[in-house]
Amino acid sequence: MRVHSKYGDKSARNKARMKFLVAKLGIEEFARRVGEERAALPHDPRWDGFLDEALARADGPAHPPGRDPGPSPSPDFLAWRRTNVTPQKQPGYAVVAVTLPLGDLSASQLRALADVARRYVGDNVRLTSEQNLVLRWVRESDLGALYTDLCALGLGQPGAGTIVDITACPGTDTCRLGISSSRGLAAELRTRLLAQNLAFDEAVGGLSIKISGCFNSCGRHHVADLGFYGSSRTLGGHVAPHFMVVLGGTERGNAESFGLPLGSIPSKNIPDVVERITTRFRRERQNGESFQAFAARLGKKELKAMLDDLKELRDFEVSSEPYRDWGDARLFSLDDMMNTEGPGPPAVRRAQLELAAADRLAWQAQLELEAGAYEQVATTAYAAMLAGARALVHLEDGLIEHPDAIVERFRARFVETGLFAANGAGRFAHYLLSRHASPLAQPDAETAREEVHRAQLFLEAAHACYGRLAAASNHLQSAGVP
Ligand code: SF4
Repeated sequence: MRVHSKYGDKSARNKARMKFLVAKLGIEEFARRVGEERAALPHDPRWDGFLDEALARADGPAHPPGRDPGPSPSPDFLAWRRTNVTPQKQPGYAVVAVTLPLGDLSASQLRALADVARRYVGDNVRLTSEQNLVLRWVRESDLGALYTDLCALGLGQPGAGTIVDITACPGTDTCRLGISSSRGLAAELRTRLLAQNLAFDEAVGGLSIKISGCFNSCGRHHVADLGFYGSSRTLGGHVAPHFMVVLGGTERGNAESFGLPLGSIPSKNIPDVVERITTRFRRERQNGESFQAFAARLGKKELKAMLDDLKELRDFEVSSEPYRDWGDARLFSLDDMMNTEGPGPPAVRRAQLELAAADRLAWQAQLELEAGAYEQVATTAYAAMLAGARALVHLEDGLIEHPDAIVERFRARFVETGLFAANGAGRFAHYLLSRHASPLAQPDAETAREEVHRAQLFLEAAHACYGRLAAASNHLQSAGVP
């Protein structure tokens, strides 16, 4: 923290990250400076005091080994054993994955599972990045009894580590940065894939699907065979949830390659994307090739062409279905995320959420730029700046929605008063004012790129302005000024 605070680039919010400093200095120099800082600090036992306790808890077998007594007559047990049990390298023991669909586990299941774990393996249970639980040191001779106990808790589902074992971040369920419903999509895909019994399919059974509700990647979509992250698109004034499709990433080799982004597709068409890709992989896979090799062989152009018709967003008047998210009967709206419950005054919370929504629009403009959709870039970049101005205006003036009114209040309250222009940000305000007065017509690649850059600079200035207002407000409050 000290190294970042001393040497990090704080001139732009999106550059104020540790990773940029590491990239600039190189890891050796970064580590040297961390060592330098640490040497200057008095030792604190919290730095390493936990290590003794952690080492004392190192796990091992709770029972002597016991050999697998042979196949059980139950086909359900055999199916579970096939996907959820891996022989441990110590003879007579196995590693058991407990499947948690969508990573969900109730409190009563968790308590009961603790009892089961103590009975079979002692008190060590591990969580996996696939959102399952793992028990190690299970005696092979206990597998049948353990399976029966897990089934009694509703935790005996097979399919761990297969295509039905989808990883999804919390998304719009609980994350205020979520754009589309990652968990809703994961539940829908799981239901469909289970119905096709694809967990045990030789070609596609081992594929991974991972879903994030936004580009922040908490669902690790970039290292999945089939990855998706949430975005949105507006048509005729209506917003529809979308997912960016990212194919062919891998966790192997320390995540040696990320997936290819293939464009944004309406959320309701994503099951068709999965169906189309898995069907083609099953049909055209050569000599047991991996999905990464298959995706590389087809190439980005061919993969994109396969999905082109699924990108189409139907007019709202033709069908409102694409404008609703999975598991939510209401019409989709980015404003749903503007929930003002939470810490801080509602106006402040709302401004923070609106700025976050403006950031998402700027990101979307960046994606459109990469996809060559320059006309759309102009619209989205303007929408991002307008959303940033709206956040500030709402902080001062309550809810104003019409673009003319937002821009007029923004000019009066923030530009003409100099509030926005501190630290030389005055020209960034001009980006919005001029674009509002005359929309960008027929941008080419260069002007579209410039437009995205301007929107990003404008939002940096909006965040800085918001920060100054919030700091001033805190200062007044702590001085007892109402
Ligand atoms: S990926 Fe986005 S929506 Fe999902 S948890 Fe992370 S920040 Fe939230």
